[in-house]
Amino acid sequence: MIVDLKRFFLGQSDTIEYALDLSGVELGGVKPFCAPVKVKAFFRGNASSVFLDADLLYTTVMPCDRCGESTSREWTRKFSHILVSELNEEQDDDSFVVVADGRLDLDELLREDILLDLPSKYLCSPDCKGLCPKCGKNLNEGDCGCDRREIDPRLEVLKSLL
Ligand SMILES: [Zn+2]
Ligand SMILES: [Zn+2]
Repeated sequence: MIVDLKRFFLGQSDTIEYALDLSGVELGGVKPFCAPVKVKAFFRGNASSVFLDADLLYTTVMPCDRCGESTSREWTRKFSHILVSELNEEQDDDSFVVVADGRLDLDELLREDILLDLPSKYLCSPDCKGLCPKCGKNLNEGDCGCDRREIDPRLEVLKSLL
């Protein structure tokens, strides 16, 4: 959605609600956004800047980074930005977004917010035990009985000498 910021720079405010389709976004071979992102974006402005507070509600479905189980997670996030037509020297801050022609690509801005906010490790639960490196069993479902003690490679050399 392209938002014309002109009226906000004239001091108006408004809330825009819409559904953002991110179904085409692909991360590591999967498309995590099956359902549209619910967006409620509040704009309030003055002559020099427009404040944007976006409340987002969305669900991601991706495989757990440790055990590979398909995992659905719900997110409620608020992202805030200050939109300006040009930066002055005190504004060299990440919260400022330059919208030179007064036309904001809100989809693109929020897509970036959402993707940057995703955790670097996506887990089914914080204490996911992962898979057994020997037999591949999902250890969240119980132990497999394999001997998984790490053998120190230096000891391994000694053992081969014996
Ligand atoms: Zn897991
Ligand atoms: Zn095992």
